[in-house]
Amino acid sequence: MEVKQNNLGASSNQDLENKLVKTYIYALGGLNEIGKNMYCIEHGNSMIIIDAGVKFPENELPGIDYVIPDFQHLIKNRSKIKALIITHGHEDHIGGIPFLIQTVNIPIIYASKLTAGLIKNKLDEDNLNYLTRIKEIDPNDIIKIGAMKISFFATTHSIPDSLGVCIDTPNGRIVETGDFKIDLTPIGQDIDISKIATLGDQGVTLYMADSTNAEVEGSSKSERDVAKSLHEIFKNATGRIIIATFASNVHRIQQIIEASVKYNRKILVFGRSMENAISTGRKLGYIRCPDNYIYDIETAKISAYQNLNELLILCTGSQGEPMAALSRIANNTHKVIKIIPGDTVVFSSNPIPGNLAPVTKVINMLSKQGAEVIVNSSLYSIHTSGHAQREELKLMLKLVRPKYFMPIHGEYRMLKLHADLAVMVGIVNKDKTFICENGDILVMYKGEVRRGKKLEIATKYIDGKDINGIDENVIKDRIRLGNDGLISVVVPIDIKNMNMLKPPSIVSRGFIFLKEWGELLVEAERVVYDALSKLLKERVSLTDIKNTIKKATSEFVFERTQREPIVIPVILIKRD
Ligand SMILES: [Zn+2]
Ligand SMILES: [Zn+2]
Repeated sequence: MEVKQNNLGASSNQDLENKLVKTYIYALGGLNEIGKNMYCIEHGNSMIIIDAGVKFPENELPGIDYVIPDFQHLIKNRSKIKALIITHGHEDHIGGIPFLIQTVNIPIIYASKLTAGLIKNKLDEDNLNYLTRIKEIDPNDIIKIGAMKISFFATTHSIPDSLGVCIDTPNGRIVETGDFKIDLTPIGQDIDISKIATLGDQGVTLYMADSTNAEVEGSSKSERDVAKSLHEIFKNATGRIIIATFASNVHRIQQIIEASVKYNRKILVFGRSMENAISTGRKLGYIRCPDNYIYDIETAKISAYQNLNELLILCTGSQGEPMAALSRIANNTHKVIKIIPGDTVVFSSNPIPGNLAPVTKVINMLSKQGAEVIVNSSLYSIHTSGHAQREELKLMLKLVRPKYFMPIHGEYRMLKLHADLAVMVGIVNKDKTFICENGDILVMYKGEVRRGKKLEIATKYIDGKDINGIDENVIKDRIRLGNDGLISVVVPIDIKNMNMLKPPSIVSRGFIFLKEWGELLVEAERVVYDALSKLLKERVSLTDIKNTIKKATSEFVFERTQREPIVIPVILIKRD
């Protein structure tokens, strides 16, 4: 399939012009952080966006509240946006779509089959499908947008149908891996190593690659290795088996189902995202399971207390999320399932950074009630990462052999280690690696890449809520934190109707403690409430809201206390 997107590049004059036009590459999210991935490529009057993710803030509950990229720059350049390309269906790549399409016009979203299915579900939930068009692509499709030609290559990752993207521009070729690992015995599609090598042979100007596991030595285990340990557990368990994993890990779910069928255990599914994943997966053909193996809750009520060794419970909550099925089972508030001594509970996952404490809490509660809890360890390999480790990253660098390298998708130290790795394998010199921050622009012109100006939006963003990884400001912020502490203003906002769901509430840490602070706090909350009430009468962006909260709070606090604590606005956006 070849899709003509717009009329740029039609005439020879235009061709000439294209040759003089520079190509700009930058991230609005995904650098110096894990989450809210969003990378933009601009050439002439055309801009394509790759991914639109969310980030789960560490202090908040994962899966409920999140942070999205700052869209100010996109609003300013809205007429240039021609398409959104999605590499795969994880939340840090698709979670921002509902917000993005309500902010600017996204004429079309290109995504592979499962990814498109997940996006459609997401937009259906909020009745937003009318705002854009979702076009399903396969890895062999080529899309033309202005002077850019976009092609894809299949990759392996912890969700099926993941794609890497190749963008050919008049100034050179860009290859972006999306999230990937090199799994040579995958459960679903293979990584298209020969296509990647061919791109490399033809010449890649700028390579942008996933850095998540740049700190981890060796190669990641294959998804297929997980099956062995799972089968071992199924073979030995005498009571019920309860397994928690990521709902998006469709291959893992398939393996668990296969083990269940082999050892003749009926399957009970708990947790909304898990139920959705299984029904979408079965509908689109990614999950195969005989109908008579899926039990409903009524049957479960009966069988849960009989034939214990004939039951598998598959649920959400592998990250210790308080409202998820496994946490409810652990703290004895689940409607149907109570722990019975002899149950085997399996965490087919690793806690993502920041979630270790809640996961440990759930493990302790389960153990106390007599369950045998199995986590990923050297004894049982019941999880493998979806991201390439150092040996895989090296291999990929050798295949792509880029002229310039920009590590993406990672915190600063991961990006740095990935850049060092590129130098170590002899692919590029240090001056041809770019460790960028969100908003840093790379300019590609006639096959050369150099740093450009920083986007104003990024500076604004850095001054805003996200203080992660920005050297100068982090130092300044630390000094301020040490001196004056921190104030956090939390406001739940219904972004669709532009109103506050609750009045703002303020929490402080390390801020001077005054006897009258209690009264002051109530007053400060009122000041923010008044400022926001005024602001929300008009359609404004999240950045405007954040800035208003900061300004109102800082001014009030300074006037009353002569202190300048760091003010962190936290906007909670409820999804349901
Ligand atoms: Zn991913
Ligand atoms: Zn990701």
